[in-house]
Amino acid sequence: MGDHFQTIVDLDATAADAEPLAGRVLAGLVEEGIVLADPTDCVLGRPLGHPPGPSWSRAVAGKAAQGPCDGLAVHLGRKVFHGCPGGLEAAVCPRCSTTTRLVDDRWAMIDEAWGPFADAIGTWSATGTAQVRCPACARKVPLRDWAWTEDYFAFAHLGFEFWNWPELTPEFRGRVAELLDGHRTQYVRGKI
Ligand SMILES: [Zn+2]
Repeated sequence: MGDHFQTIVDLDATAADAEPLAGRVLAGLVEEGIVLADPTDCVLGRPLGHPPGPSWSRAVAGKAAQGPCDGLAVHLGRKVFHGCPGGLEAAVCPRCSTTTRLVDDRWAMIDEAWGPFADAIGTWSATGTAQVRCPACARKVPLRDWAWTEDYFAFAHLGFEFWNWPELTPEFRGRVAELLDGHRTQYVRGKI
């Protein structure tokens, strides 16, 4: 059994407002008892995270047989959030709605399709801006505007990553979005 994560990614936070927004959400979650304020070594990918609080069950569906094993990692700063390795299938153009498949029938990456996206992801990681020309409508579309099967990618400055928690409810994710000034959020899941 591997470790799994669920990340609520803020798609609208800028580099400048990510930190105050993170503070507000964390304060809200601590107040509600979802997580504890004092960080410990309880997450993957970050030195410290926030362990589950006494009311963690208010964030998850039904009566979870098993509570969260680990904590909440708050990611601040430009980051490529992504789901399971191997789960990437296709990108959808927001202008013409055409789906561009990125893998073949054996789930191997199609180099000519994936290449421009891979380049753009590298550029976005380095500079914070990148575009990919849609193979169908030929328009240049900002990388962050593309949609992905299974919400695979999110390119953002703020994310709340829950490690080894039962499934977070849509209602809980909505409460987090409210704390984020109603920003658009994306729910990215995966396991390693
Ligand atoms: Zn298009």
